[in-house]
Amino acid sequence: MPETTHQFRAETCKLLNILTHSLYTNHEIFLRELLSNASDALEKVRFLQATGAAVRDAELPLEIRISSDRENHVLTIADTGIGMSEQEMIDNLGTIARSGSEQFLKEREGEKPADAELVQEGEDGEEAIVEHDDSKPSDAAQIIGRFGIGFYSVFMVAKKVEVTSVPASGDGSAHVWTSEGTGSFTLRALSGAEAEGLKRGTSVKIFLRDDAREYEEKWRIESAIRKHSNFLPFAIELDGSRVNTTAALWREPKFSITKEQYNDFYKFLTYDQTEPLDVVHFSVDAPVQFNCLLYIPGTAVDVFDERKDEWGPDLYVRRVLIDRRNKELLPNWFAFMKGVVDTEDLPLNISRETLQENTVLRKISQTATRQLLTHFERMAKAEPEKYEKIWKLHGRYLKFGFDSYQHRDRVAALLRYATSAQEEKLSSLDDYISRMKPEQKEIWYVAGSTLEAAKVNPHLSRFRRKGIEVLFLTDPVDEFALEALMQYKEHGFKSVELADAAALDAFPDVEGAEPKPEPLSEEKKPELDALVAAVKDILGDQVKDVRVTERPIDAPACLVSADGVSSSMEKLMRVMQKSDGIPQKIFELNPDHSLVRALMGICAADASDPMLKDMVNSLFDSTLLLDGYMNDPFAMAERSMRLLKQAAGWYSDLRK
Ligand code: ADP
Ligand code: MG
Repeated sequence: MPETTHQFRAETCKLLNILTHSLYTNHEIFLRELLSNASDALEKVRFLQATGAAVRDAELPLEIRISSDRENHVLTIADTGIGMSEQEMIDNLGTIARSGSEQFLKEREGEKPADAELVQEGEDGEEAIVEHDDSKPSDAAQIIGRFGIGFYSVFMVAKKVEVTSVPASGDGSAHVWTSEGTGSFTLRALSGAEAEGLKRGTSVKIFLRDDAREYEEKWRIESAIRKHSNFLPFAIELDGSRVNTTAALWREPKFSITKEQYNDFYKFLTYDQTEPLDVVHFSVDAPVQFNCLLYIPGTAVDVFDERKDEWGPDLYVRRVLIDRRNKELLPNWFAFMKGVVDTEDLPLNISRETLQENTVLRKISQTATRQLLTHFERMAKAEPEKYEKIWKLHGRYLKFGFDSYQHRDRVAALLRYATSAQEEKLSSLDDYISRMKPEQKEIWYVAGSTLEAAKVNPHLSRFRRKGIEVLFLTDPVDEFALEALMQYKEHGFKSVELADAAALDAFPDVEGAEPKPEPLSEEKKPELDALVAAVKDILGDQVKDVRVTERPIDAPACLVSADGVSSSMEKLMRVMQKSDGIPQKIFELNPDHSLVRALMGICAADASDPMLKDMVNSLFDSTLLLDGYMNDPFAMAERSMRLLKQAAGWYSDLRK
């Protein structure tokens, strides 16, 4: 039979090169990859049969057979799955199909995929790249364990691979794909004696490398299967005896399942080697019947999964896999949950298209959501530390629960924040409300890029003086989420930047607070007006306007945006609009502050005093910094040196 030779595509060559020339300690995952492909192929047949479609050799059992030939150092993995036609072999085995492989390559090259980072506003107003802590596995072994790298992983242990396949449909002709894992592969059609007796499915014949002969040993293969493939839903036979034992764990009664089994299944499902923080396992009979096994991962959910928008439990119908990562089964604010849903109430032959807007799935989602909320509520009460840990890892998702009209109040009760009263501990909104002043209506918050930034917000000091607690929002979505929630238990959310002075004045000062300065006398008002005019002149078009503040601040000055949005909201909008640089804002002076009073004096004596100019610029730059933007740092440093020199001179004269 004529043989055709094909070249691998460039990135496939790269991957092959890495796999064959690097030393990984966990070679054994090639077995996991090949067995998962076999299992996928079997699932496809089971699905076709369930839908009543005709498949070749319909009587064949759905199974995987492994045989090892120790004399010739050959390991063969055969399945009775869907098989591949000649063209499918070219397409599927000639290119990298899986994004896992792509990801693997990128990590190896040290380049980051475009969306793997979150763009956040940096201190200087530039877009700073903030990486997810977990997006960077420390070494290749971890990456390889975490992502499936697919079929090519076989070349970690093979010097040559022969794949023989008979597709379940079509004319049933058999083809052999052969490669040594270098630049090319060949294809050949089988006929006559060679094709005789071949049945539906695929057989992968691995000619083991000298340094990989351990994989012809039965115990070695068994241990790898136990570790990685124990939960495959098809029988795996090794030289005639059954290896894998447990399938469909989610259908077993809860009490009969050990923690170890739960954890093993999680690892099998996710490739995540970190133990899950919690398991939620339940079955429901009405309004729809389903079994649900969901995990709360112990690591932050993969950013790459998010990128591909891949989340949601796997959907089974009577143990038959219908759809992986089905997004109809849970709302997106539970996207960090991983697991399986299995229902009796859908027909097996349901087409994937009709899964959208399916009423059964909608009912499952509603019931599962309520169950999960109850689970989280109980945990938050009974095991607050555990809940806090989960919140820190996955809380970001829950914040989007404002999206759900039906559940937003329950989700809101699960939100956690550091506050000005308890910076170290996280508080719930109910905690906050329980500590509110009797006359207080609003739930106050301050947003900043970090806790430190939030704490020094000039608008906060007046709240501290009044002993009014303020939530610290440090995640860009926080403010957005609270604004969308609008209120909790009839208390609206409000940014301290938008506080109205009169309302705050009604609250008494806390004990020990610095006494409020005497208000500016009427005859000094013209001096204040003159200062405002001078500052406007000095700052020029760095600001939109300069005026006297009406806001309850203790700081000498603050910046506000012209259109009344809070500064963090403005930053968020600027990131979305991709505008950089420093925004033009309104600079407000606090006439009650001793610094501003002193500046008034200097200005009254000589409005063109160069010291006044330095001081005003310095005050502006510092205020800008607290608002999260940095002006020219060189000019800033130089000016500060000048001012220091003067101040030190005067001070030493004073002490003489
Ligand atoms: P993935 O499994 O993520 O698609 P792989 O590299 O593991 O990526 O496999 C590539 C493709 O090769 C599969 O999608 C499938 O179409 C095909 N394939 C691999 N092994 C088999 C098999 N045993 N039976 C049928 N098709 C297979
Ligand atoms: Mg695969």
